Order: sequence, then structure tokens, then C-alpha cells
Amino acid sequence: MTEPTISQLPPMPDDWQRALAVVAHPDDLEYGCAAAIASWTDAGREVSYVLATRGEAGIDTLEPAKCGPLREREQRASAAVVGVSDVGFLDHADGVIEYGPALRRDIAAAIRRHRPELVITLNHRDTWGGTFWNTPDHVAVGRATLDAAGDAGNRWIFPELTEQGLEPWNGVRWVAVAGSGNPTHAVDATDGLERAVRSLLEHRTYIEALTDEDPQTYARGLLTGFAEEAGKRFGNRPAVAFELFPR
Ligand SMILES: [Zn+2]
Repeated sequence: MTEPTISQLPPMPDDWQRALAVVAHPDDLEYGCAAAIASWTDAGREVSYVLATRGEAGIDTLEPAKCGPLREREQRASAAVVGVSDVGFLDHADGVIEYGPALRRDIAAAIRRHRPELVITLNHRDTWGGTFWNTPDHVAVGRATLDAAGDAGNRWIFPELTEQGLEPWNGVRWVAVAGSGNPTHAVDATDGLERAVRSLLEHRTYIEALTDEDPQTYARGLLTGFAEEAGKRFGNRPAVAFELFPR
């Protein structure tokens, strides 16, 4: 008997110049898709990050007032490793981000400011596939980002944004969701994987609080495993998979 063929994913579109990644927490992009971001910035594309929170509730042993600024610094260092210098924060509250018009408006404002063709976010579904429950912050921000890609183009949904000088931007062509249990596309991670590991390692305080494992071993093991898993559907090259929502 022959092995069943695993259906292969097509490559992500690459006919774009500007991307904006919108996620809930520092480290979401580093666990989710930093290798793809490295390959895009290598190719001369502009990628910016917007985070809904500073991840201030992410470390049990560190109170939020101290944790927030520290994680912001780690996030900026982490972005720099993969060629991203523009990192913004929306100041929602870590752990209790509310899905709703206020979040959609803040993300729509960011989209109007950056005018991206590609918007990237993290898994907005209830689980990571199977029964591994997702966090409410990821669900809220992922959903609001998918919605805000449309809101950004409508002059009348958040008229206060136009009054602030943020003209509608209807140029988002795709929203790509990293960490989805239902990927539709992939990006070759061969060249970006090592920088993705270094990018995740910039979240050192967070990782040291999370695991007793050596941070290097932890970060490399985890991201290599993700890339190999995605690669099974991408010609056995290390890959980052996305669920792509065209607009
Ligand atoms: Zn997160």
C-alpha cells in the first residue's frame, strides 16, 4: 500500500509591499510567524507591528506596572531581529481585552495609518485545533482584526477617525491568520527560522518565567517543531502556515 498523500499548501501571495501585523500580546508573532516576517523584510517589504496590550499580566512573579514596560522593550528588540522597526501599542488591558466597537475602531485606525495590503493576525478561533483552548484575548483581537480590515475602508463606520485625519483605506487584499488549525497557504521558513528563534529569545524574561528549560533549547525546539509540522504540507521544507482570508 502506498502512503496517503498529504495535501500540499500553495505559497502565500507575494505581490504586495506593505503588511501590518495586529496581535494581542508581546510574543504572539514570535511564536506564530516571525520566520515568515524575516523572509518578507529580507525581500524589501515593509512590515509593522501593532499590539493590543503590553502583555503586562503575562508573568506571575512580576506586577503589571513593572511587567508592561519590560515586555514592551523585549517586543521592540524582538521585532528588530526580523527587520521590523515600527511597533505600536493600543493600550488595551492584558487578559481582559473586549471584542467590540472600541477594539475594532483602534485596529481600523492602525490600518488607516499604515495602509497595508496584507494584514496578519493570530488564531481567532476557540481552539488551536482539537481541544487545546485558545485565550479570550487572541480570539477578540483576531476577530476584531478580520472585521477592522473592512471597517478601515468605510468612511461612515467610525467617522471620528476621518475627523482625526485618518482617511479610509480600502486597500487590504488579504488577512492572514497565523496559528490557525485550518491553514490554506504557507511561506518557506528556511531562511527565516534562525532569526525567528533569536526573535523569540528576546522575550527572555517571559520565557525564563515560563519554563525551567534552557531558553535556547526551548525556543529552537518549539519553532523547529512548528516549522517541520507546517512543512509536511509544503514539500517538507520548514514552513510557516497561514489561513488566508481574501478581501
Ligand atoms: Zn498571546
